[in-house]
Amino acid sequence: MEVRVRFAPSPTGFLHIGGVRTALFNWLFARHEGGKFIVRIEDTDKQRSEKRFEEDVLKNLEWLGLASDEPIVRQSERLDIYERTLKKLFEEKRVYFCFCSTEELEAEYEAQLSQGLVPKYSGKCRALSPAAAAEKLRANPGVVRFKMAEKTVAFTDMIRGKVEFNTGLFGDIIIAKGMREPLYNFASVVDDADMGITHVIRGEEHLSNTPKQMMLQEALGLPTPRYAHLPLILGPDKKKLSKRFLTNSINDYRSQGYLPSALLNFLVLLGWHPTDNREVLTVPEMVEAFSIKRVQKAGAIYNPEKLDWMNSMHIRAMDEKALAEHLASFVPEHWAGDRERLTRAIALVKDRMKNLADFRKEVGFIFELADYKPSMLVWKQATSEKTAERLEHARALLAGDKGSAFPSEGTEAALMQYANEEGRGDVLWPLRVALSGQEASPGPVELLRVLGKRESDTRIGEAIGKLRTEL
Ligand code: GLU
Repeated sequence: MEVRVRFAPSPTGFLHIGGVRTALFNWLFARHEGGKFIVRIEDTDKQRSEKRFEEDVLKNLEWLGLASDEPIVRQSERLDIYERTLKKLFEEKRVYFCFCSTEELEAEYEAQLSQGLVPKYSGKCRALSPAAAAEKLRANPGVVRFKMAEKTVAFTDMIRGKVEFNTGLFGDIIIAKGMREPLYNFASVVDDADMGITHVIRGEEHLSNTPKQMMLQEALGLPTPRYAHLPLILGPDKKKLSKRFLTNSINDYRSQGYLPSALLNFLVLLGWHPTDNREVLTVPEMVEAFSIKRVQKAGAIYNPEKLDWMNSMHIRAMDEKALAEHLASFVPEHWAGDRERLTRAIALVKDRMKNLADFRKEVGFIFELADYKPSMLVWKQATSEKTAERLEHARALLAGDKGSAFPSEGTEAALMQYANEEGRGDVLWPLRVALSGQEASPGPVELLRVLGKRESDTRIGEAIGKLRTEL
């Protein structure tokens, strides 16, 4: 049997990490089992669904590498199917129209609550004859309710084990607002069956929907997929994850410079970990190690610092060429075009980078030397005159470099020998400032390597010029 899973977002907001965690677990399960992962847009709520949110979801799934294996299924394009199915349910008297007003329902619920009962619909409109219902429909669109049988529904959740519900607690649920406005539980059941979904993996908040969906499957003679309910995502304080984190859209993470693989690695650990407790995993390693049975029941804690750490680990592990691709949208165009320098700049800061957005600030001086004061070149007690002479000496040493990789070992040794004779600070400080234009930067030899011979020479020349015009 081929494994077929779906990710079924409602396009009522931007894609957020909770959604991606669900998509990821479905995707990993499908990949691990050699099955299919399909995206279904649950857009039957006309008031709340927006095209821009659907576009956002699809664009970001693509960016994360979690695109649908088959054409996207949109519920709004399947209204005929739901209507047909509803008609069948009417014919079989499994559903009925209800015309009770909100006020009536509220009064009913309050009365039940005051008697210590769990509130549920009384089933009043069940008694309406088809003729009476047809008459009422002229003035009132009504809603469609499903006659919920009272029984114990049990299923084996792939994560939670045996789960039981007494459907008597639900009352007759509303499954559509009209013949062409199906609600979630109903549309979902019809689609899961039509799409041949074998496993439904979704958030714990849907646990109590499962027995309702199973009752609908029974009424429609549809198969029941296997279910897995993922643990809640909790905040660092172990309370329900605050809106602040949960509603952070993927766009925010993206513009802050998180790598897709780091984000996925961070999210896969929200409720799961491999047998060997490795924390840093590539996407193929996640696919290989993933097992739905190892997903925990207890809430998973979201720790933003861990995400930063994870991102730095993934940046470090990525080769410079691939990083250059990811950095392209974070740097000016002419930087991105200067691939060679970009790659060398990446090599320089890669091991210290937390996110891609910091890169521009950290290596800006490699692409554009900012103006700085000549006094910055002068080390402690040294004079401008002496500093200029030392820079000239160093410049001459470097100019004589004939090696293929700049600076050659010989040049580096000669430079260090000169620095040891003259005083390290007296030589290396002005050289470093000349190359970077900054108080703090990587060391001069690293800078020479990144800038290359020509640019280094130009910058040292400029520094000497600054010092000389001062004199
Ligand atoms: N549209 C539902 C949601 O976004 C889907 C739930 C499900 O996977 O069944 O929560």
